[in-house]
Amino acid sequence: MKWLVVLLILAAVIAYVIYRYRKHLQTAWFMYRTFRQMRKRTQAARQKQVPERDTSQATELTPCPKCGKWTAKEDGVKLKGDYFCSLTCLEETMAEKAG
Ligand SMILES: [Zn+2]
Repeated sequence: MKWLVVLLILAAVIAYVIYRYRKHLQTAWFMYRTFRQMRKRTQAARQKQVPERDTSQATELTPCPKCGKWTAKEDGVKLKGDYFCSLTCLEETMAEKAG
């Protein structure tokens, strides 16, 4: 019962505030909507400029065991779980291990 009274008072206060500031709220709401529309437009424009590319499966970066340069696993040269940034690094590592 106590909560009901509190809720009723709160509702009354909110209703009063809305009534009292309805003009301000209308303006604020209008500004908010305009802002959102603007953002949507800018986002749409941006999406058009940048070709669609799924960045959620972002390329995993891994450091080259030879030179330490960070490369995408896709672009790297794989050898036994290691990803080298280039064939040169791979060959150099192989040569080091061999000799
Ligand atoms: Zn490298």
